[in-house]
Amino acid sequence: MAQTHYKVIIIGSGPAGLTAAIYAARADLAPLVLEGEQPGGQLTITTEVENFPGFPKGIMGPELMNDLREQATRFGATVRPLRVSKVDFSGPPHKVWTDRGEFTGESIIIASGARALLLGLESEMRLMGHGVSACATCDGFFFRGKKIAVVGGGDSAMEEATFLTKFADKVTLIHRRDQFRASKIMLKKAQENPKIEFLLNSTVVDVLGEPETGLRALKIKSTVDGSERDVPFEGLFLAIGHVPNTDFLDGQVQLDEKHYVVTHDGTRPSVEGVFACGDVQDHVYRQAVTAAGTGCMAAIDAERYLEARGH
Ligand code: NAP
Repeated sequence: MAQTHYKVIIIGSGPAGLTAAIYAARADLAPLVLEGEQPGGQLTITTEVENFPGFPKGIMGPELMNDLREQATRFGATVRPLRVSKVDFSGPPHKVWTDRGEFTGESIIIASGARALLLGLESEMRLMGHGVSACATCDGFFFRGKKIAVVGGGDSAMEEATFLTKFADKVTLIHRRDQFRASKIMLKKAQENPKIEFLLNSTVVDVLGEPETGLRALKIKSTVDGSERDVPFEGLFLAIGHVPNTDFLDGQVQLDEKHYVVTHDGTRPSVEGVFACGDVQDHVYRQAVTAAGTGCMAAIDAERYLEARGH
């Protein structure tokens, strides 16, 4: 019979989950990693990662995640392509349900990350995959020679707009204010790109088009005078931030007002034997390297917890 009980179960397989897996595996805890909906996490839908220490020439996000996965399995982690739907933290042992079976763990590390936010328009959902996307790396290729818009004023928006100029003839960055959250260096790079133009103090209030024929225009509203106009575009990329993947936790650990897991003393959410790391508990730094760092902390905390309980 396949193993269903583990000393450590790690929920999520981004930099946090896989770093936790490397440390837990090297501590001889043979962890189970439940990969989730997006194996490898958000870095698998990014292009080049230039700020992860140790890669002076940069590394492609998917390659970095493959390497981390290989490193974790090399030391004895089991990685399974399963999504967690429900948990019961009334143990230990704690219970975790997936679409294919139930597992129990003496300790659990929550590393389920965060996902891209959408505008919340009905038309945006209807045209998702037919001109609307939240992932430039995944879909940019389909917009060669087209006129596209990117919504947002943070680093993601600058990064996506810059990346999309590889394909699109013209990229319009639509932002609801005239001040940016983006770092100066990334904003400057976008501003100096001749293919990017800025449409400020503006929001997208409707996405016009049909799934059969694709996106044809965006209804843009001025945040200054409330006026609306239809502007022709063939693609819309959303880069307006992220929400943590915590729905499956369903009240089993404390969440903050933005639904991120609240942790104390490093990686502890105040439930015995449960630890949390990475973007699911961090809306401040949200970097691959900080996620990896807290993943390491969570594994060490889990190891010490298990040791104290005689495991
Ligand atoms: P962010 O910094 O939270 O920026 C989100 C942007 O979207 C803001 O400009 C916000 O506008 C806008 N926005 C939010 N909701 C909106 C809505 N409903 N309609 C229109 N606009 C909306 O998110 P992010 O850009 O994804 O960055 C997240 C973190 O990741 C940051 O710490 C960032 O530095 C980091 N990051 C780093 C890199 C890199 O270094 N390579 C790349 C990407 C991201 P307001 O400003 O008006 O609120």
